[in-house]
Amino acid sequence: MPKRESSPPSFTPRPRPGEPAKIYPTAIVQPGATIGPDAVVGAFCFVASGARIGPGCRIQCHTSVWNGVILEADVFVGPAATFTNVRHPRAAFSRGPAAGGAWDETYVERGATVGASATLVAPVRIGAHAMIAAGAVVTRDVPSHAIVAGVPARIIGWACVCGETVARGARRPKRLQCEACEG
Ligand SMILES: [Zn+2]
Repeated sequence: MPKRESSPPSFTPRPRPGEPAKIYPTAIVQPGATIGPDAVVGAFCFVASGARIGPGCRIQCHTSVWNGVILEADVFVGPAATFTNVRHPRAAFSRGPAAGGAWDETYVERGATVGASATLVAPVRIGAHAMIAAGAVVTRDVPSHAIVAGVPARIIGWACVCGETVARGARRPKRLQCEACEG
């Protein structure tokens, strides 16, 4: 097994000094998109006019954030994660506001993580501090602090605010803090 270099984690949240979002030059951000302070939008991302990215979010490279996608504060989105905004798309049929409707919404609550190459099938809501594993395909709402993985994604455990696993299995534990965060 390769050594897990990211361990032990930092148990102190990253400071949010309120600086303008850092947007890498190859990213495309349409006018009207909302990107909060201290956010980072990586290379080759696309942020649509109606997307909302909260303060402190980190969008890694090659991710498109469409209309109808709302990320609260401090959401981590891994590289090449996929958001959607139409449940049943057809190239020949208009959807969304242009067709008199609305986008199917993806709402990600604060502190959640969307793993690399995970796919979120809208409409879907990801609870605060949830952890979506790399490559997962999320078709149902995810409770706060839940760790989900697989295709379709299922709950395999529970994560602390800091990202450490506090319990395995689908049953929500009483304690959702790791020992380090509990102090
Ligand atoms: Zn913790």
